[in-house]
Amino acid sequence: MSLTHYDIIVIGSGAGGGTLVHRLAPSGKRILLLERGGYVPRERENWSTRAVNLEGRYNTREEWRDAAGKPLHPHTNYFVGGNTKFYGAALFRLRREDFGELRHHGGVSPAWPISYDELEPYYTQAEHLYQVHGVRGEDPTEPPASAPYAHPPVSHEPRLQQLHEDFAAQGLRPFHVPMGVMLDEREPRRSACIRCATCDGHPCLVNAKSDAQVVCVDPALAHPNVTLLTGAFVSRLETDAAGRRVTAVQVERDGQRERYSADVVVVAAGAINSAALLLRSASDRHPRGLANGSDVVGRHYMGHINSVLMALSKCPNPTVFQKTLALNDFYFGSPEWAYPMGHISFVGKLDGDTLAAGAPAIAPGWTLELMGRHSLDFWLTSEDLPDPDNRVTLDREGRIVLSYRPNNEEGHRRLTARLKQLLEGQRACGVHGHECHQGVFARNLFLGQRIPLAGVAHQNGTIRFGHDPRTSALDPHCRAHEVDNLYVVDGSFFPSSGAVNPALTIMANALRVGDHLLGRLA
Ligand SMILES: Cc1cc2nc3c(=O)[nH]c(=O)nc-3n(C[C@H](O)[C@H](O)[C@H](O)COP(=O)(O)OP(=O)(O)OC[C@H]3O[C@@H](n4cnc5c(N)ncnc54)[C@H](O)[C@@H]3O)c2cc1C
Ligand code: SF4
Repeated sequence: MSLTHYDIIVIGSGAGGGTLVHRLAPSGKRILLLERGGYVPRERENWSTRAVNLEGRYNTREEWRDAAGKPLHPHTNYFVGGNTKFYGAALFRLRREDFGELRHHGGVSPAWPISYDELEPYYTQAEHLYQVHGVRGEDPTEPPASAPYAHPPVSHEPRLQQLHEDFAAQGLRPFHVPMGVMLDEREPRRSACIRCATCDGHPCLVNAKSDAQVVCVDPALAHPNVTLLTGAFVSRLETDAAGRRVTAVQVERDGQRERYSADVVVVAAGAINSAALLLRSASDRHPRGLANGSDVVGRHYMGHINSVLMALSKCPNPTVFQKTLALNDFYFGSPEWAYPMGHISFVGKLDGDTLAAGAPAIAPGWTLELMGRHSLDFWLTSEDLPDPDNRVTLDREGRIVLSYRPNNEEGHRRLTARLKQLLEGQRACGVHGHECHQGVFARNLFLGQRIPLAGVAHQNGTIRFGHDPRTSALDPHCRAHEVDNLYVVDGSFFPSSGAVNPALTIMANALRVGDHLLGRLA
């Protein structure tokens, strides 16, 4: 079989792969982008919570296994643009301290091989590329930035503004979430984004969300040197006899097997699929999986400790676009608790259909529909620590197996408890007084739900980067220690995960590695 040769092959078109291709496209290098999915169809169902959340219309049907061998239906999406087609577009920088070693209640969060200052210029570039709307100086844990956001923050609707004031009155520093949406509140008639309720978890029907397809892949394809193959599942990477170079990329497309080669091969299939691809590519030279002499490939899987917490009140919450407010006051701990606790923000407004998909406990006297209309829907994130036994492996049929035991949970429990306290401190409402925030019963009604294993939205850590080839698979440029022309630029490279959403860090790193590759190929 003859091989078509490229300068660069990139596998996966999400936050990592899509952003990288955007950086490389103007170079004139011949680039092949391989994506297992197709385009998300533009259809009414894009904005249907029933279709998206209840029927799982865009979820992969792929079946994985958990550690016990039970089927696992991952909440992940294979499309051009990857999971950014569905993300909530909250685009945070990690904190400066996240790049160093941090002591948690449950153990140590290890340091990164690069400092915050090395990534900072790329954070700024990624924020501008993805049109992040935000404001500097509000978030008490915000790291230093070399430029302001290019767009003003997304404003709070009245219920969120009221909560902002209630939190501020309790001595906290709530802030506007940095959001990648193409919203122009000063010129609503011209604004691409219409500020709808179906952003988080949904594709944007009007292409106004800053996702990797709209912002990066589509513009990159305007360059004649960039080729995208959709429906192209990469099954294996082949190497030369010495095992030092990737010589061919095997692809399954339209029921056929194809092979391509390139001077540089970049894997960006998402932290779980990238690890699976390297494990599938085991050979005599790489018996534990490609580039896996260290035995770290697939290990140290992290996905954050995430919970959704609904606070019900007698007054309805008519907010449409809820993801505007966050709290980082407890990110590194509190006066009573010296360890990191995490980050508090919001999910998109929940409704009855979405709640039915998660099957939460129904508050006595409420229906799911009613709960959706009266709730404030918080999203709490805490850091999980890299445990080598939390890992991606393959079973005998080649299926993905995800083994995960939660750790470092005490900080998350305390964060949840703090939020409950804060909500009890909300001011009395004009209609119901303090009773308003107590549900219909004589006690506060907070319904919490931890995100289960299938919730792999924040997957990272499975092919960590570092200086030492004994403890990491990638060097600080995200190049495999053992394979000269192999790079990984998705969420896999994180040695630790911090407690803010991961996508902006993946994008910024892709731009950083992109500059390195431009130098290498010059
Ligand atoms: C509902 C939801 C909400 C989220 N909200 C936020 C948020 O608000 N903020 C935030 O920062 N993050 C958020 N995330 C997480 C964010 O989307 C991910 O961190 C990010 O997309 C990961 O980037 P990636 O490049 O690692 O992988 P992906 O974006 O998943 O891209 C991987 C790509 O590789 C393709 N692929 C996989 N295997 C193969 C193969 N073998 N061959 C070819 N192609 C392959 C996939 O189809 C996919 O397109 C959210 C995720 C979800 C699901
Ligand atoms: S219109 Fe705006 S709020 Fe609605 S999905 Fe698109 S980007 Fe999100």
